[in-house]
Amino acid sequence: MQEALKSIIEIQDLDMKMVRLMRIKRERQKEIQQIENLRADLHKQLKEKEVEVEDLNKQIRAYEAQIADISEKLKGLEDRQTQIKKVEEFNALTQEMTAAERERIGVEQKVSDVVDHKAAEEELLNKIRESLKASEASSIALEKEIQSSINLVNEEGAQLKVERDALAANADPETLRIYERLLRNKKDRVVVPIENRACSGCHIALTAQHENIVRKKEGLVFCEHCSRIHFWQDTTEAEGAETTTKRRRRKVAG
Ligand SMILES: [Zn+2]
Repeated sequence: MQEALKSIIEIQDLDMKMVRLMRIKRERQKEIQQIENLRADLHKQLKEKEVEVEDLNKQIRAYEAQIADISEKLKGLEDRQTQIKKVEEFNALTQEMTAAERERIGVEQKVSDVVDHKAAEEELLNKIRESLKASEASSIALEKEIQSSINLVNEEGAQLKVERDALAANADPETLRIYERLLRNKKDRVVVPIENRACSGCHIALTAQHENIVRKKEGLVFCEHCSRIHFWQDTTEAEGAETTTKRRRRKVAG
């Protein structure tokens, strides 16, 4: 294999590990986000329910004030009635009192309805409080665990970067530049071997002529279908590369 490509392939191995790490990190961050969203949602529900219950309390207070007014009025009417001698006036007051009592019964019914409604809403409010408490207790532990696995990913990423920087410093700058441009486009392996006379990147069959050019190991040869760089892997070299990869492979948390 071309010497220039050898170090690029090593860099590529590290870059692929980095891509995988970043994917793990994004997934874990998304999990944290979901936990936070759930909690924010419960907080919002709690707030809304509290406002609802407070509104019902206001309604109840308003109705109670109305009842007190009516009772006051009734008391006044009763007092007046004791002093009245004429039957017509007495009857008129009786009618007025009956109407006021009917009104009071109506308002009392409304209060009773609102009180029932409030009891139901308070029950819901308590349920929201309980689930918020439960979710906070369990999510704190989970968030901690996720955060520590993100920290591990960050550490591993920092190590990879050190290794990569060292390799990049010694790589052929022109080849590295081309490789990096291809990587930005594909976000996948871009220096790939020919396998069974096909590009192992896009899996499209290649001509014998193309394969021969790659086997000569002179300069960069690009896949005419996907623009990846091809290299020829001799059997011994392939085995060597395999063990190197295995030795370098580290355990990724998460
Ligand atoms: Zn291809």
